[in-house]
Amino acid sequence: MNVYEALQKYFHFDSFRPGQEEVITSVLNGHHTMAMLPTGTGKSLCYQLPGYLMQGSVLIVSPLLSLMQDQVEQMRLLGEKKVIAINSFLPANERYYILKSLHQYKFIYISPEMLSNPSIIEYCRKITISLFVIDEAHCISQWGYDFRPDYLRLGDARKLLGKPTTLALTATATEEVRKDIVRLLELDKVKECVFSVDRPNISMVVHQVQSYEEKINELRMFVKKLEKPGIIYFSSKKMCEEMAQLLRQEGIIKTAAYHGGMDQEQRMLIQQQFLYDELEIICATSAFGMGINKTNIRFVIHFHMPQGLESYLQEIGRAGRDGEKSIAILLSSPGDIQLPMQLIENELPSDYQIDLYIEGLENPSKSMILDLTDTQQRFLEFYCTTDKTKRDQIEKIKQIRDQRIQYKQIKILQMDKWIKSIECRRNEILTYFNETKAETYKVEICCDNCGISFSEYEAIETAELDNQNEPWDVLLKNLLVRKAKEHD
Ligand code: ADP
Ligand code: MG
Repeated sequence: MNVYEALQKYFHFDSFRPGQEEVITSVLNGHHTMAMLPTGTGKSLCYQLPGYLMQGSVLIVSPLLSLMQDQVEQMRLLGEKKVIAINSFLPANERYYILKSLHQYKFIYISPEMLSNPSIIEYCRKITISLFVIDEAHCISQWGYDFRPDYLRLGDARKLLGKPTTLALTATATEEVRKDIVRLLELDKVKECVFSVDRPNISMVVHQVQSYEEKINELRMFVKKLEKPGIIYFSSKKMCEEMAQLLRQEGIIKTAAYHGGMDQEQRMLIQQQFLYDELEIICATSAFGMGINKTNIRFVIHFHMPQGLESYLQEIGRAGRDGEKSIAILLSSPGDIQLPMQLIENELPSDYQIDLYIEGLENPSKSMILDLTDTQQRFLEFYCTTDKTKRDQIEKIKQIRDQRIQYKQIKILQMDKWIKSIECRRNEILTYFNETKAETYKVEICCDNCGISFSEYEAIETAELDNQNEPWDVLLKNLLVRKAKEHD
């Protein structure tokens, strides 16, 4: 069977999307491959199809439980039975049973945590792995915008697995991050398949306002007018919830919040409801969206400033997977840069937290309960696992932390520069990824600096919502009063 027959037989598609065939051919020829294809292109197919044409199993490392679950379900819907996800969701006895019969599965999804467990690696070593896949591979680089130290161990896992043919997949990685991926996975003679990060059907707008109050009002206006479904990104969990509530009270009832503070089941439910159009607006933190395969998202709004151009691009890339025109709006007001700057300072543990954590490791009886965020916890667990951590190691850990903070500060400054720019926004993003913009671009769908028309993106029936102005004003006032009180 050739690749076209397999495409028809297993996926019922007539043709490849740009980039897919090149990646698939490379993998089938046994080359280690680093593939960068924009979100929504169909990166999953780049390992699923070769899986059918190769002997042995495909082992796929995926960073998020929900993402993994989603992929497994989609494959099962296509009729694939030999697919499984090994993660912390799986009850221990069931996991044991599956590990013992691992060779029966063609597609094995696994979380990086599981893959750093020696006994699980042992089971994986017993089967033939024809392809080792790292999805969302930018997570591997310490310069990736998501900090996942457990990804750093994948190089070791790969060695233990006998260095099978490897495919690293990502949608947005700068050259620096790509080099880091190749280095950490020790991919020699790697074939790079790098395609444009550009998503021509998504126009980019920065909407400048003068105050916080104006920002909320403009958000409300956009949400009412724009064609839905859409996602609104916030940097704060609390804002997500408050805004979702405000919008619901305003009459946009199919709105829900989604953030990392909610429990897993609740998050899954919201994700499913959004997927099936039971919800049309999600007020989310960056915890929402990676790998979500909803094709008809028409807008992505950023209420707060993103932490860099990579995360911005990744987030707006969730719109318009169906190729239809979509819009990304970033709401910007003076002083917006303070929040992301503050967030990165707090993202990693403080000197005090590092000292206490290490003291607790050395002397468990003195161990204290530290109120750590997930990322702080991950950082400490990864860097402070030695039994006896000496003074110089502590200093080294603090240095690593400081480097990361500095690096992220630069990313935020680059984002800020982009927001303030009066040049073509698409061109600037492409330049950042060492690309050049095609000359044939239609200005009316490019960006605000090139000039676009909002009416193009409006929903048809906005009239009936227009009558509900009053309650909103009251709600808004209440929120602002409450915020002012919090500041006192
Ligand atoms: P990515 O991981 O690149 O963001 P996915 O692998 O989740 O994207 O795929 C996005 C969607 O594109 C899926 O619904 C998938 O079925 C569809 N798709 C993938 N390849 C093709 C193709 N060759 N033709 C049509 N649709 C495709
Ligand atoms: Mg994907």
